[in-house]
Amino acid sequence: MFLPVTYVQALQCRECGRRVDVAATHACGFCFGPLEVVYDYDAMRGVVTRERIAAGPPTLWRYADLLPVLDGPADARDAARVDLGAGFTPLVPAPRLGATIGLDDLWIKNDTLNPTGAFKDRVVSVALTAARRLGFDTAACASTGNLAQSVAAHAAASGMRAIVLVPSDLEQAKILATAVYGPTLVAVKGTYDDVNRLCGELADAYGWAFVNVNVRPFYAEGSKTIGFEIAEQLGWRLPDQVVAPMASGAMLVKIEKAFRELINLELVDDRTCRVSGAQASGCSPITAAYKRGGDAILPVRPDTIAKSLAIGDPADGYYALEAVDRSGGVMEDVSDPEIIDGIKLLARTEGIFGETAAGVTIAVLHKLAAQGRIGRGDRTVAVISGTGLKTTDAVAPTVGPTFEITASLDEFQAALSLQEPA
Ligand SMILES: *Cc1c(COP(=O)(O)O)cnc(C)c1O
Ligand SMILES: [Zn+2]
Repeated sequence: MFLPVTYVQALQCRECGRRVDVAATHACGFCFGPLEVVYDYDAMRGVVTRERIAAGPPTLWRYADLLPVLDGPADARDAARVDLGAGFTPLVPAPRLGATIGLDDLWIKNDTLNPTGAFKDRVVSVALTAARRLGFDTAACASTGNLAQSVAAHAAASGMRAIVLVPSDLEQAKILATAVYGPTLVAVKGTYDDVNRLCGELADAYGWAFVNVNVRPFYAEGSKTIGFEIAEQLGWRLPDQVVAPMASGAMLVKIEKAFRELINLELVDDRTCRVSGAQASGCSPITAAYKRGGDAILPVRPDTIAKSLAIGDPADGYYALEAVDRSGGVMEDVSDPEIIDGIKLLARTEGIFGETAAGVTIAVLHKLAAQGRIGRGDRTVAVISGTGLKTTDAVAPTVGPTFEITASLDEFQAALSLQEPA
């Protein structure tokens, strides 16, 4: 029986360092800086071992000791867990994609295989687990689509009420894939940033757990599990390079944090892993700041097919710049046609159909390899964060049947002989 222990000490302001007791709150009462969960690493060292982790379940909950599992009797903690089986997704070698773009040791972290098809299941599983322990019965969020679906699904499975707000121009598939779980689904005429602002006001007015507002410190920690898994799946070794997509920037920040935690706990050797960030040029406030060489994020109005990454005013942008700098990574962005090429390239070389965010990651990876900013021999992991089945609109204009015939052998042979070799 795998019983996690809580090593959570407090919430700490990322700006002024002041600590507050664990509660559903995300901003420092003193300076309004964002709060982050802090743990007692000294108590963990030597106790949280590779063996202990390996004895855990084949989900993100194998890292429960490093997640904000709240205090209380073990059985109450287990009962509160909101778990559809997210995490511990395959890390697969990608030799054919690697050969195409000039990388000899390329790997794909395939997060399309989460329960609702996106990495958001990790953060939601952790956020709703914490929310239940904090006494909430309603889960809410502002979303660019994947988060809405994941919150609706996890709330349904745990008997929580779900209130999800999305921009009304979202992909149809994401609206349907959310509505099917029966949440209160609110389509807001405006951008994600408008929706998010409204959620900030709602969070003050209603006693709900907004996964990306008042329980954001717990939510964000769930992304660390991508980093833990990459290291464990490589035999407890950090790769040389990781490339990850950025919306708010939180996922990238937490992957880099995960690597530092593993080094701190002596679960991996201390070596440099460069963490690089990818955005769509049509919404690239973080890469734009990086390219300017500054740390001020200038908000933009998103205009890209990569809707899951379309956050014009990214909450963790500054911290993403910091994480990339600290690790020695870089940032790049790519156009919508490059994103579509990236989706197809991944599908046609490795058999993985990713969404537009995956297209962003692959196209940026391609660019960095071509520019020599990722070396041919570098062990490189690309984070593929969501399934293409929810963003079929993006590729629809450029893919379809190769030919159409009646059910006749002659017609088939004639059509096949006309087909140009690919
Ligand atoms: C939300 C999301 C991301 C990035 O999220 P952050 O806000 O940067 O943590 C990446 N890929 C997909 C598919 C997403 O849904
Ligand atoms: Zn503060």
